[in-house]
Amino acid sequence: MHHGEKAIILGGGIAGKLAARVLSDFYQEIIVIERDEQPSGPFPRKGAQQGSHIHALLQAGEHGLEKLFPGITEKFYTTGAVKINSTRDLAWFHHGVWKLRYEGGYTTTLQTRPHLEWHLEQSIKMFPNVTILYNHSFQDFEYNENENRIIGVRIKAGNLVKTIFADLVVDAIGAGSMTASWAKGRGIPVPEEKVKIGLRYVSRTFQLPAERNRDWTIKLLYPNPPQEKIGGMISKVEDNQYIVTFIGYHDAINEKEVLQNENHFIELAKKLPKNDIYQELKDAAPLTGISVFRIPQMTWRKYEKVKQLPDGLMLIGDTMCRMDPFFGQGMSIAVLEALALQKLLQNKNQSQQQMIRAFHKQAAKIIAPIWSMVTTENFRYPATIGRRPFGLPIMQWYSKNIFLLSARDQETYHSFVKVMNLLSPITALMKPRILFRILTRMFSRIS
Ligand SMILES: Cc1cc2nc3c(=O)[nH]c(=O)nc-3n(C[C@H](O)[C@H](O)[C@H](O)COP(=O)(O)OP(=O)(O)OC[C@H]3O[C@@H](n4cnc5c(N)ncnc54)[C@H](O)[C@@H]3O)c2cc1C
Repeated sequence: MHHGEKAIILGGGIAGKLAARVLSDFYQEIIVIERDEQPSGPFPRKGAQQGSHIHALLQAGEHGLEKLFPGITEKFYTTGAVKINSTRDLAWFHHGVWKLRYEGGYTTTLQTRPHLEWHLEQSIKMFPNVTILYNHSFQDFEYNENENRIIGVRIKAGNLVKTIFADLVVDAIGAGSMTASWAKGRGIPVPEEKVKIGLRYVSRTFQLPAERNRDWTIKLLYPNPPQEKIGGMISKVEDNQYIVTFIGYHDAINEKEVLQNENHFIELAKKLPKNDIYQELKDAAPLTGISVFRIPQMTWRKYEKVKQLPDGLMLIGDTMCRMDPFFGQGMSIAVLEALALQKLLQNKNQSQQQMIRAFHKQAAKIIAPIWSMVTTENFRYPATIGRRPFGLPIMQWYSKNIFLLSARDQETYHSFVKVMNLLSPITALMKPRILFRILTRMFSRIS
């Protein structure tokens, strides 16, 4: 044990569980404070309501999970997750064209988030120095103002409030974390970037008619911005069920209307760029109610820039950055952050505080290129409000060309698949060969 005796993790979601796994190798005792009750199986839960919506685990996330929990991917499959060939079994309509379909070298795991999280939960329970306190809600930090140090937390279970002291407190409460306002209240502002996207998710799970031949396992119908604002996804998951998720930017979906009258759900399928999902839904049997989720904005809280951040406090996952989830990166970012944390902890020559500072910087390096990629797409809508990335028109022009080439050029699509799955940096799409193809495409259209 290198850094300290005891670490507390606030929030037992994906990032909280991953942090617990990593810290368990370096701290004697890890206590996870989780507001929800102990799950009895892979079911959606109150504290992670996004679990009723399609959750894609990108390949960088899947590889990282396997490193942290060897054998977990196989467990996903033996309990119902669906293994697909990433480019053959995914039908993806994007910017007005279908992407190429071919048997590439990558696989993707389709499953519900509760299924994934249930297995993480079971795996983390195998670590004897990790305790999860369910039905416990974080109330406040125990703060030593003289030393500017977090020394513990106050937590509540029923009417009982208690204090636990620790060497390290990790905030993994997610997008609803109050740490930034807590710090601001003590004269420690946390710089924040927000991009307003007015996004709604509405989802429902279905049984599709079995007799139909389908040449896809997951189908994505992306809106072509700026004219189209509504997109749809249908994905096979455990038990031969299919989750259908509609998304709408800039308030294009009125979720109250959908909840009041369930016919509005299927009506959304008619607003998509293609009627494929409608064709499936008109003969499908709903298995669940309709779930909605509002994501008014993306938020990036830049803790790496806070010089006076109290010692003993670390942040991970959505607490730091909530992306536009339509791009399916949140869980994978949490995995990459956990791996970065593991690497930093292995360096025994730095203090805990140096490690925390280095971690926040590393996390920012993980987030920055993804943020830039995602906001480049968000700003195709004039109604998007926020700081525009540098060189936006060129980036939008370039990425649009990549999307269009992905419909007919296998090498370009393959490079894009790797970038999209966070396996390659974005510069992989700027190789001379790809640039040449883009220019050829452009000149052939002009002549
Ligand atoms: C609609 C939607 C769709 C998404 N789709 C995808 C996708 O396709 N792919 C992907 O990778 N990511 C997706 N994401 C993002 C993904 O869900 C998160 O990035 C990921 O779960 C990491 O979040 P987290 O662990 O930081 O927070 P969360 O998963 O939100 O977990 C926070 C935890 O803190 C607990 N908690 C909250 N308050 C307290 C408190 N006071 N005390 C104690 N515990 C508390 C909660 O119960 C919860 O368990 C999606 C998100 C949304 C909203």
